[in-house]
This record gives sequence, C-alpha cells and structure tokens, in this order.
Amino acid sequence: MASRFVSPLFAWMPSEKLTNWSGNLEYSSQQLTNVTSLDQAQDFVRKHKNFKVLGTRHCFNNIADSKNELLSLRQMDQVSIDAESRKVTVEAGISYGKLAPQLEGKGFALHNLASLPHISVAGACSTATHGSGEKNGNLSSAVSGIQFINAAGEVVKLTREKDGETFNGAVVGLGALGVITKVTLDIQPTFTMKQWVYENLPLAQFKQHFDAIEASAYSISLFTDWQNQKFSEVWIKSRTEPGQEFPAPKDFYGSTPATKNLHPIVELGAENCTEQLGIPGPWFERLPHFRMGFTPSAGKELQSEFFVPRQNAVDAILAVERLRDQITPHLMISEIRCIAADNLWMSPAYKQNCVAIHFTWKQDWPNVSKLLPVIEKELAPYKGRPHWGKLFTMSPATLKEIYTKMPDFIELAKKHDPKGKFRNDYLNRNIFG
Ligand SMILES: Cc1cc2nc3c(=O)[nH]c(=O)nc-3n(C[C@H](O)[C@H](O)[C@H](O)COP(=O)(O)OP(=O)(O)OC[C@H]3O[C@@H](n4cnc5c(N)ncnc54)[C@H](O)[C@@H]3O)c2cc1C
Repeated sequence: MASRFVSPLFAWMPSEKLTNWSGNLEYSSQQLTNVTSLDQAQDFVRKHKNFKVLGTRHCFNNIADSKNELLSLRQMDQVSIDAESRKVTVEAGISYGKLAPQLEGKGFALHNLASLPHISVAGACSTATHGSGEKNGNLSSAVSGIQFINAAGEVVKLTREKDGETFNGAVVGLGALGVITKVTLDIQPTFTMKQWVYENLPLAQFKQHFDAIEASAYSISLFTDWQNQKFSEVWIKSRTEPGQEFPAPKDFYGSTPATKNLHPIVELGAENCTEQLGIPGPWFERLPHFRMGFTPSAGKELQSEFFVPRQNAVDAILAVERLRDQITPHLMISEIRCIAADNLWMSPAYKQNCVAIHFTWKQDWPNVSKLLPVIEKELAPYKGRPHWGKLFTMSPATLKEIYTKMPDFIELAKKHDPKGKFRNDYLNRNIFG
C-alpha cells in the first residue's frame, strides 16, 4: 500500500490547502497519495471506492476534483523510445517539459506542444489539450497507445492499430475510464523552428485573408484584447526545412515585425517567453509560448476556450468582437488558434477542423461567470464547443448536443467503471447527468 505523504513535487506545505495551478480552485479533498509503481496504483484502485487522479493541476475547473481521495502518479515518469517504429512510451506522470529534451537527445520530436510545456502528458491528452497549426491535430491525436487501470484494478491496454473505435473513445477520457499509467505517442525526426511576432494586424485584413494567414506557417496564434479592430500580436512558428520556412516579410497583412521579444500580454516582460525574432532553435523551445522553469502565462488568472468548426471561424470571431466592450474590462488577452480534425470521440476537433477562441481572464469569477453565458449564447449558432479543462457555463443538455459521441463515451466509461469509482461532480453533471 502506498504511503500517504505530502509530495515535494507539488511544493505543498501542510498548512496550505491543495489547489489547482492558478489557485482559483481548492480541491475538496486534501488526501493526496503518491504512487511510484503500477502495483501500487492497482492496489490503490482496488482499495478505494471513489477518487480522482491529479496530473499537474493546470485545469481551471473541477474536472480533477474529488470529495474523497486524490491520487498522483507524478513520480512515475520513465520514458522508452522505440526509434524503429517512431514511438515513445511514457509513464503517466511525466510532463511535456521533461519528455521533450529526452526526445531531442535521441533525435526525435513531437508534432506539436501546447502554449506551455509544464503540463502532464496524461492530463493534457485526457482533456484534448492543443497547440496551433491548421494541419496539426491536438496533442491527443499523437497518442497511438494507452494503458490504464480500470475500476476492478485490472490493466487495460488499447492501441490505435488494434482497438479502432474503442481506442478513439478512450484517449480523450476526461479521467472517466481509469487511472492512466502509460501513454504511447507518435514521434518524428527532430526539427528546427524559428518564431516571429508581428504587431497590430488589422481586423479587416483578418476578415479578408483568414485562410491565407493561417496557411502561412506551421503554427499561427493571433492575440487580441478585442479593442481597436486589431490583433495586437501574431505569433508565427515556422519549420526551417526547405519549402516550409516563413519568408518573414516587412509587412504581414498590415502588421509589422516586432523588434524585441514580446509577451502575449504586451505590458508584461518577455523573460518567460520562448525566443522570437527568427532565431532558430529546437522544436520544443519554439512550439510553446512559455519556457519551462518560468511561470507560464500571467499566473493569477482564469481561462475559457471555445472551438468552432473552421468554416464558421470568421463569423464566430466577429460575433465575439461585437461583445468587446463587455469582454475587455475582465480580460487579460484572447488567442485564436487552428486545430486539425481528429477521430477522438470527446475531442472538440472530432471529425472537424476547428478554430479555438481562447480567453485569459482576470481572476474575477463573479464577473467572468456572468460573461460566459453571453459569449456561449453568441457562439451557439456556430456550434461552439468548450475546452474540457477550462471554465464554461453551458448546460449538460447543450454539451450532449454538440459532443455527438457522448452516448457512446458514456457506455464505454460504464464498461470500465460500472459503479462510478472515477466520477466526481464535474463528470456527474456534464457527462453522466
Ligand atoms: C497557463 C496555462 C496555459 C494553458 N495552455 C493551454 C493550451 O495552450 N492549450 C490547451 O488546450 N490547454 C491549455 N491549458 C489547459 C491545460 O492544458 C489542460 O487543463 C490540461 O488538462 C492540463 O493537464 P494537467 O496534467 O495539469 O491536468 P489536471 O488538471 O491535473 O487533470 C486534468 C484531467 O486529467 C485527469 N488525469 C490526469 N492524469 C491522469 C491519469 N494519470 N489517469 C487518469 N486521469 C488523469 C484528471 O483526473 C482530470 O480529469 C493551459 C492551462 C494553463 C494553466
């Protein structure tokens, strides 16, 4: 039986309450158990009636919360690279930040990363976490195998090759199927990237040239506070292989190249941001916006994000822009990113290319909670799906309408967890309600 102790990995003092990364959520249970092996994890599963696994705690809502027990696999972080089949198998506790240099050391890369490398692979894939790039699927689209412990304490192994639709249902599992112990990811030969930031792209140019802007490099992020009909920054991440390199013109659809490194929130210093100005570097030091070892984003904040089908992107963004005077007072920054379609049942990009409209809010839930229904209503005609790990107020009935594979997902989850060992308030309300 794993001993219960305070994990140094969380730097959690006994006097402090265990919270999520941004501190907006105090977990309902303070009972945290760390396991260091598959046997210990199986033993924990068999002995407990109801609990949740914590990854790196970067979700903004109560998806990882438990009133009973919390389990951490953060100390299980071994990596095994199969160069021949171009796959890496990782233990569930590892973060992208720890995995990436190990892949680089062996000459490999992942296809994409989120804005920050600090998050766990298992937690990120469970919520369909994504980066940017119209040809890039979200991070879970790189998963080719998954190993988890079901409610009976048995080890279940699923692969993309052998398990077809069951696999597609399990990867973005929202923590509902079991305790993920290993994840296998597709890898590719390492690549070099360059990153540029352009300032002040007019909304009129965006409206007219959205497709061309998105097609101009491997990964594009547009930042705005919705004021003055412009995107304050465009982050352009380009691979450097022949034919792929961004030409870095002096004028990019009316925007101009920045002359120093910038933070997405113009007023903040860029020390925690990845290198810009077209300086070449390895993929894992350019794909995220934020560097490992530094606080990503702003810190004390809230986040929401809605995914609309690619063909609705411009109309949906203009609909949000019309709400600017309600949004901006509570906003730090918004970001627009493209994500390629995938086959994963609970992914917001299931069978549809998407554009994600993201909001980093000031940490003011009373006001943000009043604004979210307004934004959700505005995005409803465009079939906006919320990010599972961020804040939303959409009703469970609406979620069922827009996540069309939800009935199949519920069946799959019940098969592995018939009595609701892995359920919590979030899952009971949004999925099983
Ligand atoms: C500053 C910041 C920037 C962000 N940027 C992005 C971004 O660019 N793109 C994006 O899409 N999202 C982004 N996010 C959101 C973030 O990526 C997701 O919330 C992600 O789920 C975080 O992973 P985690 O390990 O912290 O998950 P946690 O919050 O710890 O857990 C998430 C879910 O996964 C489950 N889980 C975790 N580990 C396991 C396991 N081993 N077995 C079973 N279930 C497990 C938990 O129970 C829970 O249901 C950002 C968040 C922050 C704070």
